[in-house]
Amino acid sequence: MHEMSLSLETVELVVESAKQGGFQRVSAVWIEIGALSCIEPEAIEFSYQIATRGTMAENSKLHIESLPGEAYCFGCQKNIVLNQRGEPCPCCGGFELKVMQGDELRVKEIEVL
Ligand SMILES: [Zn+2]
Repeated sequence: MHEMSLSLETVELVVESAKQGGFQRVSAVWIEIGALSCIEPEAIEFSYQIATRGTMAENSKLHIESLPGEAYCFGCQKNIVLNQRGEPCPCCGGFELKVMQGDELRVKEIEVL
């Protein structure tokens, strides 16, 4: 399951940065999921609970936010907002796009104790 490995990576990253800061517990985590990714928020939520078990992030609250997709349009020569993969540029209708943001999962913020 894709989400499980993503959750494990996320928890590892969160725990690592909390440790570096000298903290004992992680109480909440905010993540952003790109609109162009195929990540299911529900699956992340579920696998996160499993991935945090036995770590300093156990029982922490997970907040999931959606990150809008962004792509560079070669026709317009600028960055445009892309809500779904496979869609054309909303400005010129072109398909020559390079996804810049929105196909990833990233940790935005963590709350530590
Ligand atoms: Zn365009």
